[in-house]
Formats: sequence, C-alpha cells, structure tokens
Amino acid sequence: MTKKPLTLINKKNIRVDGRKLDELRPIKIELNIIGNANGSAYIEQGKNKILAAVYGPKEVHPRHLALPDRALLRCQYHMSPFSVKERKRPAPSRRETEISKVIRECLSPSIFGEYYPRTSIDIYIEVLEADGGTRCSGIIAASLALADAGIPLRDLVAACAAGKVEEHLVLDLNGPEDNKGTDMPIALMPTFNAVTLLQMNGILTTDEFEQALNLAVKGCEQVYTLQKEALKARYINVKEEVEEE
Ligand code: UDP
Repeated sequence: MTKKPLTLINKKNIRVDGRKLDELRPIKIELNIIGNANGSAYIEQGKNKILAAVYGPKEVHPRHLALPDRALLRCQYHMSPFSVKERKRPAPSRRETEISKVIRECLSPSIFGEYYPRTSIDIYIEVLEADGGTRCSGIIAASLALADAGIPLRDLVAACAAGKVEEHLVLDLNGPEDNKGTDMPIALMPTFNAVTLLQMNGILTTDEFEQALNLAVKGCEQVYTLQKEALKARYINVKEEVEEE
C-alpha cells in the first residue's frame, strides 16, 4: 500500500497546529526578567522560547570602536545547543552571524543613538527553543528589551513572517512550514509604516509577494499591540512596587 504524502494544510485550510491561514501563533511576552541586564524580555511564540537582554548605553570595549556621533549598536543572536531536535554546535554559525547582522540593522533605525555618542548598546538574543521564525520572535523581544532598558526609541519594532506553504499564503510559519515552504520575514516600525527588514527564502510571484507583504504587515500590527500591552504591564508593576514602598 502506498502511503499518502503528509500535508501541512488540510482541505478546510487548517494548518498542522490548528491555526487558520492568517492566524498568528499564541504569543506570551514578559519584560524585566534578567536582573543583571539593563533591560530584558522573554517571548514564547508557539514553540519558540527566546530571551533578549540589553546592556547599555555603556563605555565601549575595545575603546577604538567608539563612534564620535552616536552609540555603537551590537547584536548577538545565538541558538542554544538544546534549542533544536538535533544538538546545535554552540559556536556561532554563519546563519547566526547573518541573523545577528540583520537584526542589528532592523533595530538600529528605531534607536535615538545620537543621544549616546561614544557608548555601546549590546543586544543579546538567546534562543532556548526554536520552531521557525526565531529571527522575528527575537526582534520582538529585543525591541522590548531596549524599551525596558529605558533607551529612547522612535517606535517599537514589530516582526512577523508570511509565506507560501502548499500553494497557500500563510502567516507566521512554524518549523515544519518554514522547512517546506517559502518564508518571508519582515520587521516594521508601525508608527512610520517603515519596513526595516525584508528577507525571503524561496520563490513567490509578484502578486504573491504583494499579498504576502500585506499579510505580514497585518501580522506585525497584531504583534505591535501585544508589545505595547507587555510594556504597559511592566510599568503597572513598577508603579505598584513604588506604591508599596
Ligand atoms: N533550525 C534548526 N537547526 C539550526 C538552525 C535552524 O533546526 O541549526 C530550525 C529552527 O527550528 C529554526 C528553523 O530551522 O527556527 C528555521 O530557520 P531559519 O534559518 O529559517 O530562521 P528562522 O525562521 O528561525 O528565523
């Protein structure tokens, strides 16, 4: 007997994890969880579990890297060895180097770096568990960690992927969908309607690209609402702590 090939989307357009085509994975965000960092955030998005921590603005080491007119922004995205089914080598891979670079570049326009010349702002993103779309979840957490560190921002940066799986356009691809389909992660500063990251892994027609972009922007807007709620919750906690004292 021949086996039927496994499909990721059923006839009713429901995905393997029970989502509709245009539905985000459940997102949980918490701020201020790393006591030793200036700002931090933790995100769970579906099976993704990611921590972001921000140090700075602080003195630059090595000092010759200091910039005379703005803060030096550095970013390190790292996947822990236990974050995926097959143990990942702990040393930074080419993929992690690339993701660190694009995340730094997508967060940079949101920061008033000119307020802090000759300093550095270091962002660390640690993936504890990965199931597709970790760069987007990492961006969501890192932008909130920057806000939590009290760094003045033009806007929060939201991120979300859209793509194509088995001929369907879908939002927020999970691991199996990412492996099988076309993935297009974007980052957005919603107040300015400014896209600060756009990558694509796979092939889309021009029409599909436009539709996927619109879908991803809608996803970012939903993410943005959740980010603002998480930030508000953090300051309600601070207010309560101050009142208790
Ligand atoms: N992945 C993995 N091992 C690796 C790198 C990635 O299993 O060394 C998985 C992981 O679940 C990740 C997914 O592949 O989330 C997709 O990786 P991609 O490079 O597309 O980045 P992401 O979608 O996570 O931003």
